[in-house]
Formats: sequence, structure tokens, C-alpha cells
Amino acid sequence: SGDGSIEKEKTLAMIKPDGLFGSYTNAIKEIILDSGFSICKEMTIHLDEDTVKSFYAVHSSKSFFPSLVNYMTSGPVLIMVLEKVNAVADWRAMIGPTDARKAKVTHPNSIRAMCGLDSQTNCVHGSDSSESAAREISFFFKEASSGIVEGTHASEEE
Ligand code: ADP
Ligand code: MG
Repeated sequence: SGDGSIEKEKTLAMIKPDGLFGSYTNAIKEIILDSGFSICKEMTIHLDEDTVKSFYAVHSSKSFFPSLVNYMTSGPVLIMVLEKVNAVADWRAMIGPTDARKAKVTHPNSIRAMCGLDSQTNCVHGSDSSESAAREISFFFKEASSGIVEGTHASEEE
């Protein structure tokens, strides 16, 4: 502790369609900034089916996958790159467990407890490891400034 050499880390955060629709955006951004993160990049986009299927490819064989795709395409999302020391683990801790119903019991101060509904409709996303964070950040923010158009995912390359 107190070691000035500890490096900052980036993670990918997303406010999912229920979060935007429920007007939780400002409250969540306030929590993010009050917790010492800087928001390096952000964009609001309405994800299409192919983008969601690719983003959540690891879950493609799960029974909930079709429903997850419907949910994630049901409205716009706000995608952010957050930065601070220990960003990945700290943001995961702040959002709480996947199932918002459980979160309300076991992690009542978590973001999913505050604004999530159940195991699907849970308001926010956070990368689960530094490897996932790197993949997810480049998935949405491929080129530093070009290639992303508001409302569109730049998907011209693999
Ligand atoms: P997390 O978002 O906490 O990393 P997962 O990676 O396991 O959770 O799942 C990705 C997303 O898929 C979840 O955030 C949630 O929206 C949805 N999901 C996960 N498990 C279920 C489930 N059992 N039923 C319905 N949807 C689910
Ligand atoms: Mg996950």
C-alpha cells in the first residue's frame, strides 16, 4: 500500500437496456466517479443481434442465450471504459452477483441490488478478468477514434 508504482488498470462497464430505460444512468455514473474511477471512453449504442451474440459467445450454448440476446437488444446501452488501480476486481465487487435477487439479500449496497431485477435483467456489466477486459475493450473501441459511429458497431473486421 502506498506504493506509487502500482499501475492503473482498465475495465469495461456497461449499463444495460433496463438501466438506461429505468433512468439509472446518472446515479451509476455518480457511484463510478465517487469510487475513484475515471471514465476514459463512453458511447451509447443500440446493439444488434450479431454484436450481442459475439460479445456473449461464451454463453452461446446456455439455455438462457436466446433470452439474453433479446434482452440486450431491447434498447440502447451505455458502454464505458473505466480506469483506476484494481479496476476489474473493484468494479465486479461494486456491481454484485449476477442474480440481482440474490444481490438484494447478500450485497444490498451493490449496483445490481439497487437497480437489477433477476438473474438476467441485472442492469450492468463488468469484465470478469483482465483478459476479458482487454478483449471487451477492443471489441467495442477498436480504433482510438475512428470506426465507431453512434448507434453502430464497427464490425468490418474479425
Ligand atoms: P455476469 O454478467 O455477472 O458476468 P454471466 O457472465 O454469467 O454473468 O452472464 C452474462 C449475462 O447473462 C448476465 O449478466 C445475465 O444478464 C445473463 N444471465 C446469466 N445467467 C443467467 C440465467 N441463469 N438466466 C438468465 N440470464 C442469465
Ligand atoms: Mg460474465
